[in-house]
Amino acid sequence: MEELKKFPIGGVHLPEEKHLTTDVPIERMDFPTKVTIPLQMHIGAPCKPIIDEGTEVKRGQKIAENKEELSAAIHASISGVYKGIVTRPGADGTEIDCLLIENTGQKNEEVLMEKDYDTENPQHKDIVDMVRKAGVVGLGGACFPTHIKLSPPDDKPIDTIIINGAECEPYLTVDDRLMQEKTNTLFKGLELIRQAVDAEKGIVASEINKPEAIKAIREEANNWENLEGVPLDTRYPHGAEKHLIKAVLNREVPRRGLPMDVGIIVNNVQTAIKIAEAYFEGRALTDRVLTVSGRGLEKQLNLLVPIGASLQDVIDYAGGIVVDDYYTIVGGPMTGKRVLSHDVPVAKGTSGIVVLSQEEYGDTEKRVCIRCGKCVDVCPMYLPPNRITAFVNNEMFKEAEIAGLNDCIECGACAFVCPAKRPLLRWIQRGKAAN
Ligand code: SF4
Ligand code: SF4
Repeated sequence: MEELKKFPIGGVHLPEEKHLTTDVPIERMDFPTKVTIPLQMHIGAPCKPIIDEGTEVKRGQKIAENKEELSAAIHASISGVYKGIVTRPGADGTEIDCLLIENTGQKNEEVLMEKDYDTENPQHKDIVDMVRKAGVVGLGGACFPTHIKLSPPDDKPIDTIIINGAECEPYLTVDDRLMQEKTNTLFKGLELIRQAVDAEKGIVASEINKPEAIKAIREEANNWENLEGVPLDTRYPHGAEKHLIKAVLNREVPRRGLPMDVGIIVNNVQTAIKIAEAYFEGRALTDRVLTVSGRGLEKQLNLLVPIGASLQDVIDYAGGIVVDDYYTIVGGPMTGKRVLSHDVPVAKGTSGIVVLSQEEYGDTEKRVCIRCGKCVDVCPMYLPPNRITAFVNNEMFKEAEIAGLNDCIECGACAFVCPAKRPLLRWIQRGKAAN
């Protein structure tokens, strides 16, 4: 039997709950009559509108940008009239500025970007230009502008591209479905990344709990000279970059270092697909696939959603909430954010909306630490979460830093196993913000 790759120490096996949507094909959500598109959906400089209030815009048209290199352009996700900047709650609880577009009966036909190159002969400049123009960012949640990732410095040669199809968060099945339904486009995107940085090979890595996706990847890989599929064991957090790299290639990314320090670029599944769509079809990033799940909802779905649709639009499309007590999370339940408002807009980095019923989120009463050490056993970064959080809660931030506060990758495994239900991850995040 094939030996499955995995990272060596720590991590947890989680209740997956992926069966709720793993067999549900991706469908396009109806276009809402209005969208509020955040001006900051990426790491880097926020965008500014490049159109005047009252301007009629078409889906796919660029509507905001920032000339700084570290930024990502924004495009209209529906056709309609630009009504100005409004504020909405963000997933992190802060107020964010958004572009409001209202559709008053316009057709949502998509305008495409011009291509002035030979698609059969990809050149670094053309790939990077189209990715920049399309506003592609890392869609796994990191939201780093992809055109910069495709231009590593000369002293950081890249030999391998890894597509991160681990999707180890419970409930989420976006990458699983995309790997099955858009396998060829995914490989086209991977090959473009490989050619852009002149890497020797590309790998699509996925956990073995997605057998149909792994089968599709392996079949597709037979058609490509330098690309392959690699199955991983099922263990959280395989999707964390450093752990993925350790599992797939047995290379250690240095503390505070980046994958490019060990010759690797890691990209998300949907990001690679968006790269291919930008380069071959001239399509800007105006929508994304996300999983809508949890027993608090009437229907569980994998949905293609226009950027800027509200959580409420998506929840309504999924038949609404069918329980009295629920808990709404943007992202997955391990690393996502609980939100109290459904006015939060879907952004480029929104990988899921999970509405948990009370029976799913269970008892949340917090108790004192019983010093069981389980949080230490599962920490994939070899940290002592119990000690770090004790320092944070006593405002001893220097001691928390020495104990490893800033090495935490915020996977949430410690909080998940804590029998006292201590919100360790939330405390760690508070400590980082205060440090
Ligand atoms: S301390 Fe950080 S890295 Fe370690 S288990 Fe907790 S959240 Fe994950
Ligand atoms: S898992 Fe919870 S109860 Fe056990 S040592 Fe860690 S913080 Fe304390």
